[in-house]
Amino acid sequence: MSTGSTNALIGLGANLGDARGTIIQAVAAIARFEATTFVACSSHYSTAPLGYEDQPPFVNAVAKFATFLAPHVLLDNLQELERQYGRQRSFPNAPRTLDLDLLLYGSTVLSSPTLTLPHPRMCERAFVLIPLVEICPSIEIPGRGRASEHLAQVVRQHVVRLAERDES
Ligand code: ADP
Ligand code: MG
Repeated sequence: MSTGSTNALIGLGANLGDARGTIIQAVAAIARFEATTFVACSSHYSTAPLGYEDQPPFVNAVAKFATFLAPHVLLDNLQELERQYGRQRSFPNAPRTLDLDLLLYGSTVLSSPTLTLPHPRMCERAFVLIPLVEICPSIEIPGRGRASEHLAQVVRQHVVRLAERDES
């Protein structure tokens, strides 16, 4: 599936329970969305929590899919998937079990009440830029140049690449 499809870059984050397992399952679930094909997934990265430090580190990754879904439909599906995970183990002020952000949808630029593309905070987040550049080294962010050009301004953020998980 490539002719007529659009490349969607999705940022994944989790910090409760088996966070790495959740990321792996979420990528597999997105690959099962209608008219959507998996292309690539970055390594997993461990990110120190910002703000509330009394919580486990986040695991973050970026995955690329080719999809025929319209961007709002894709976001609806991602939010439904978040809800399937997000209510588990929930308590007041609990960190979210799964966060899914639509970072880029081809070269689309749009701003609606529920969806802004490119994702408005992606250029300030090392946990987005580092895995994004890992799988798409020369990717352009519409209106903001190459993603790699923004890496220098986030070097102080604590993001560590995790070794591949031993599934044996
Ligand atoms: P963040 O992931 O930036 O910490 P949230 O996940 O809490 O923030 O934000 C979710 C809200 O952001 C949703 O209500 C969604 O409608 C809105 N939103 C706007 N643009 C996007 C996008 N590109 N990807 C995901 N959510 C988006
Ligand atoms: Mg989000």
